[in-house]
Amino acid sequence: MVKTAKMQDKPLRKLIAGNWKMNGLRSNVNEVKRLATLIGKAPANADIAVCPPSTILFQMAQAAKGSLIRLGGQDCHVSKAGAHTGDISADMLKNAGARYVIIGHSERRTDHGETNALVAQKMEAAHEAGLVAIMCLGETLSERKSGKALSVIGAQLRGSVAKTANAKNTVLAYEPVWAIGTGLVPTNAEIIAAHRHLRKNLVRLMGNDGLKTRILYGGSVKPSNADEILNLANVDGALVGGASLKASDFIQIIRSLG
Ligand code: PEP
Repeated sequence: MVKTAKMQDKPLRKLIAGNWKMNGLRSNVNEVKRLATLIGKAPANADIAVCPPSTILFQMAQAAKGSLIRLGGQDCHVSKAGAHTGDISADMLKNAGARYVIIGHSERRTDHGETNALVAQKMEAAHEAGLVAIMCLGETLSERKSGKALSVIGAQLRGSVAKTANAKNTVLAYEPVWAIGTGLVPTNAEIIAAHRHLRKNLVRLMGNDGLKTRILYGGSVKPSNADEILNLANVDGALVGGASLKASDFIQIIRSLG
């Protein structure tokens, strides 16, 4: 296992967040209850979040009441309300029980052509609503192969972070596009280099808050690799897709924190 000194003086409290993507019906709401039971009442050594589709967000928030699990949305519109058919505002997510919202996920950037500038506006909307924005970025396989990974994620970070960002209302998620849902994972050295680069850029952008802003790793995190990834320098948690859908898998990732 590779363990390297952190750039921060003190390790940040980790966040393990599950991204359910376009999965989950009302019949799956109880999965969060199962997770809550498995986590138990003991003070968790990490923050735990589940981001279901917005159709079941409210029900899940109700089901998770009294537990350590917090809820999140998967996207928000830049406006509070208005004529935007099919969209969801940050206020609506908050009203339904969300504490977090994922923004700029690569699937949104690809499927919906979301730009860095739009992601920055969404981050600001999330902050205005009192939500913590989990902002995703990451390089494609061709960018990685051509040696551009660090410059690509640096540019995404600088373009996607709103002026309202601070260490409390913002979390980054480094998610190499080629690692999402593929079973492929970067080497430890690649993860460490990416997170170190993001940390440096965060400090440039946010000063001292850049040291305290959590940087999650996302992309094919599963029970078998979570322990190793979560112990790498500047990895302050994980954004988990497929392996967050079943409480029995997700709990193993959470427990790998010890
Ligand atoms: C994600 O959806 O953000 C993700 C990392 O997915 P997976 O864990 O399935 O690769």
